[in-house]
Amino acid sequence: MGDDILSVIPTDPHWQPAPDAGKRAAALVLELVSGSPDDAHTDPGDVGLDVDWYEAITAVDCGSNLLSIRCPHCAGSLDPEWYRDLLDAYDERGEGLPTLDITTPCCSTATSLDRLDYDWPCGYARFEIAAWNPQRPPLTPEELTTVARALGHPVRQILARI
Ligand SMILES: [Zn+2]
Repeated sequence: MGDDILSVIPTDPHWQPAPDAGKRAAALVLELVSGSPDDAHTDPGDVGLDVDWYEAITAVDCGSNLLSIRCPHCAGSLDPEWYRDLLDAYDERGEGLPTLDITTPCCSTATSLDRLDYDWPCGYARFEIAAWNPQRPPLTPEELTTVARALGHPVRQILARI
C-alpha cells in the first residue's frame, strides 16, 4: 500500500507567502481534506499535513502517477527515467533546484522544467501544502480558488502516489 499526497503549490515556482497567509491557507486545506465530521467513514486522524517554505525551488512531482513527459517544442516523448535521474542528481546535493533551465534531450532546445508537458501534472515550488492520504477526491476549481484567496496567490494541485 502506497501513500496518496495532495499538494497545493503557488503557480509561480519562485513565490513564497508570508507566514500568516501560508498558515491560513494550510488550515483551509486541512479542513477541505479532512472530510465532514458527520461522515462515519472518514477518520481525520489518518490525514497528515506538511507545510513547507523551501530555501530553493523544489520539485513537487506526482510519484508513480507519472505516465509520460512531452517536449513543448517537438512534442517528443521524454523518458521518465531521464527526469528521475535529473531530480535524483539534485536530491544528492540536497539544495533544491538552482535553476529550472534545461536543454531537452530530444531536440536540444533550451527551455524550462516547468514548461514540459507532464501527465499527470508535476510542479515546482518554494512553498507547499501537502496533505497525506486525503479522505476525498481532488480539490475542485472552486475550492482551489478559496485556497488561493487565503494564500494571496493563484495555486494548483499536484496529485502524487508514492
Ligand atoms: Zn523536443
